[in-house]
Amino acid sequence: MAKKKLAAPGGYRQTSSVIVDPGGSWGGIVAAGDRVRFVDLEGQQAVDFLCYSALDMRDRYNAANTMKMAGNAYLNAGTVLYGEYATKLMKIVASSCPNHDTIGGCCSAEMNYLRYGKRTHSCRANFLHELSKFGMGEPDIVANVNWFMSVPVGRDGHMAISDSPSKPGDYVDVEGLTDVIVVISNCPQKYNPACGYNPTPVRVETYTKTRVARRR
Ligand SMILES: [Zn+2]
Repeated sequence: MAKKKLAAPGGYRQTSSVIVDPGGSWGGIVAAGDRVRFVDLEGQQAVDFLCYSALDMRDRYNAANTMKMAGNAYLNAGTVLYGEYATKLMKIVASSCPNHDTIGGCCSAEMNYLRYGKRTHSCRANFLHELSKFGMGEPDIVANVNWFMSVPVGRDGHMAISDSPSKPGDYVDVEGLTDVIVVISNCPQKYNPACGYNPTPVRVETYTKTRVARRR
């Protein structure tokens, strides 16, 4: 496991740090200008993610809008996460791992049964658990982001969840561009390479801007 503590982003101080076990979940509010960091402690661990405007929860992450505005199917540092109403919800400000996914979606008990004949815990169940804390539910689950998950698309259109390039200690920093509700599931998937067939813990850290003392 990566033990090394990452430095706080310049001009920010840490406000929380939580380990999320494999199959666990986390939800919180990230205010405009604040940041959330996801650390893949052991590498190759998919973190399923959704965000919603805290001011109007109908304005939630929209994968298609995000890909169209980026001109790219993969999410990297600099990518803005757009909402349903073309609102800039969040921005990836740093990432030590390239090409996060937003087309593979989240695992569910139903899809795991269909594909692998197994009844399992799932990211979909975790999303429902976290969304319930904010008065949301099933209709609020939309196509999501998968941090640290690799879904290459071939020239012939072939796509599949593939081995992640994420190494122990890799991280992604995401900044609120408006006040947002963030929910994540630390994927429990064991039957495809989303988590290297071995789900492992991640760390969620939140940061707020340090106040600059005003000169008189
Ligand atoms: Zn999953």
